[in-house]
Amino acid sequence: MTPYPHLFRPLDLGFVELPNRVLMGSMHTGLEELADGHARMAAFYAERARGGVGLMVTGGFFPNRESAGFDGEGVFDNAAEAERHRVITDAVHAEGSRICLQILHTGRYAYHEHAVSASPIRSPINRHAPHELDDTGIEKQIADFAHCARMARLAGYDGVEIMGSEGYFLNQFIAQRVNKRTDRWGGSFENRIRLPLEVVRRVRAEVGDDFIVIFRLSMLDLVEGGSTWDEVVALAKQLEAAGVTLLNTGIGWHEARIPTIATMVPRAAFTRVTAKLMGAVSIPLITTNRINTPETAEAVLARGDADMVSMARPFLADPAFVVKAHEGRADEINTCIACNQACLDHIFTGRLASCLVNPRACHETEWASEPAEASRRAAVVGAAPAGMAAAVTAAERGHRVTLFDAADAIGGQFNLARRIPGKEEFRETLRYFARQLELHRVELRLGHWVTAVDLVEHGFDAVIVATGITPRVPPIEGIDHPKCVGYVDAIRDPVRIGHRVAIVGAGGIGFDVAELLTHAGPATSLDPDAFWSSWGIDRVLEARGGVEGVEATPEPSPREVWLLQRKTEKPGKRLGKSTGWIHRTELVRRGVKMLAGVNYDRIDDAGLHVTVDGQPRLLEVDHVVICAGQEPNRELFDALSTRGIETALVGGAHEAAELDAKRAIAEGTRAALDI
Ligand code: FAD
Ligand code: NAP
Ligand code: SF4
Repeated sequence: MTPYPHLFRPLDLGFVELPNRVLMGSMHTGLEELADGHARMAAFYAERARGGVGLMVTGGFFPNRESAGFDGEGVFDNAAEAERHRVITDAVHAEGSRICLQILHTGRYAYHEHAVSASPIRSPINRHAPHELDDTGIEKQIADFAHCARMARLAGYDGVEIMGSEGYFLNQFIAQRVNKRTDRWGGSFENRIRLPLEVVRRVRAEVGDDFIVIFRLSMLDLVEGGSTWDEVVALAKQLEAAGVTLLNTGIGWHEARIPTIATMVPRAAFTRVTAKLMGAVSIPLITTNRINTPETAEAVLARGDADMVSMARPFLADPAFVVKAHEGRADEINTCIACNQACLDHIFTGRLASCLVNPRACHETEWASEPAEASRRAAVVGAAPAGMAAAVTAAERGHRVTLFDAADAIGGQFNLARRIPGKEEFRETLRYFARQLELHRVELRLGHWVTAVDLVEHGFDAVIVATGITPRVPPIEGIDHPKCVGYVDAIRDPVRIGHRVAIVGAGGIGFDVAELLTHAGPATSLDPDAFWSSWGIDRVLEARGGVEGVEATPEPSPREVWLLQRKTEKPGKRLGKSTGWIHRTELVRRGVKMLAGVNYDRIDDAGLHVTVDGQPRLLEVDHVVICAGQEPNRELFDALSTRGIETALVGGAHEAAELDAKRAIAEGTRAALDI
């Protein structure tokens, strides 16, 4: 008996039965544009199919040139392309799963001069303004959607998902925000929804009745000028009548300034939106956003918030999510921590998507973990992200591994990260590694400071040094003053920090420390109601777009905080592409004063003396928290090198500059594959 009865209840769609209630949601991975992308996508999707997902949706493919995100990329409009996709559909079917092609028309989000939309209104996140379509142009788009669906069927897909949310093309016609037309495609609500309905009817006519048609409906636009709830319901009903099989939930336009999937968003924070639509239509509803564990998914379904749950990034983190849940092995799931660092941030910066906690994601054909030719005795020093990944991978390959750490718990700096409000998910990575170390019988020696002599005496065959970093102590006059606190102590014991605080260093850790020190009550990441209020989302879903006329009410900060850096660029500029704006917005709303171009003069009883724009200033603070970057901790590595012992050096110990857990885990894994 599965511990998740609702999750594993089959879903009958009439012409096909899905084995469980899990949809792997669409993710653009970047494989779509590679020369060898089809074979790599086949490996990627097949691994998830093997892992038990009932139904999956590909990343977006474009029905024509004007709809493409980037000019000429990812267009799916002919039989030759359909033939190339056969390798994907065959691979998924061979594993017993089903797959739909997502048809994505980006409209005014297209980054090229051929972009088209309802009206020629440029998006705030794009420098290209779209061309306004005339009647003939609109007819062409509809025909291209239908043709693309036919090609998907030809390619062996089990269905299509028509992307109608997130502020893309169809959403641009639906919402009065950017549809300013006065013809039969704009103005009244009936006219604005004519295009999505026509697209669905024509797609259905093209593919026949026994083909899945999912429509991703924007149920909460999170922008002014979005749909009202009554409009959402009316459109949902008409989509059902037009031939949709499943309605998927879309939350928030890309240009919305409210976080919808980042780690500070509470788990399942938006399923109440889908829940409100339950009963209004008779086709199954899929809910989504920040569902990352089987417990959360089960609770959502058990509450009746939806008929099915969509998870996307959790399948980058762990392709075997479903089978592990089904077999009661949820504690073995590598949980997506919603950091976006290797998935969305990679895509937004033109790199292939992967996953911070699973560097094999989207590299399935390159990162094979073969059993070792001979089992060796391996020592890994440092039980933090780099060392834990190295130990688990080495043990998986058959080596006998001992993992050491001086601390009395695994995790290294991750133990600090998880204390930051909004980063509670980081605990899951520690839980995952703890379980994997146990499963693979890694000998864990905590509270053990390792020296080169120890390692020599024990005669290990292979050594991986993952000893991390030490915080940098900047050469500021008065750095030894009692007002100065390192970030490690500030995070471990924030209550000791006074009312007025200056933070030296506005990198990732400076921002996190500011977040911690400006939080009063419990984190909004753990309380959906508080999260909705804090970001100004209408809790009764009556406001247009969910936000019009609603005021954000963030918790006031209990401290007065200055966040400082020497560089003259905007503080936070180097934070994650998809999350930096959230951190900056949160701190600004709590009154944090960010200063760039700061010269630190000295610290004394009066506070921190700085010079900004040539003007001396005194920040009269109780404490100065030092977050000035880090230096590699190579003491052990150097001692081993002196003795001529060959070791692998990974993570922060290898290179502290621009270190993050993504690089640490990837380096640790790689080093273990080489033993
Ligand atoms: P470390 O985490 O530095 O750990 C090294 C370990 O080695 C320690 O446990 C130490 O006790 C042990 N050790 C050292 N010498 C010895 C010895 N001689 N014998 C035995 N044990 C030894 N990264 C992200 O990617 N995303 C984030 O959002 C993020 N947020 C962060 C927030 C905070 C507040 C902090 C502090 C860090 C954050 N990081 C984040 C950074 C991330 O935690 C680090 O990049 C990662 O922990 C580096 O891993 P590591 O394995 O190289 O070493
Ligand atoms: P960091 O991002 O490199 O920032 C270090 C800060 O210290 C910078 O603001 C730098 O700015 C300042 N600094 C450097 N040398 C200094 C000196 N001698 N005197 C005074 N100030 C100095 O490093 P971090 O904040 O320690 O973070 C470490 C790593 O953890 C980061 O690289 C990051 O990838 C990771 N992390 C990631 C996240 C995330 O959300 N993704 C969160 C936390 C940490 P100036 O030189 O301009 O003063
Ligand atoms: Fe999840 Fe982070 Fe991996 Fe993306 S990189 S899938 S957000 S854990």
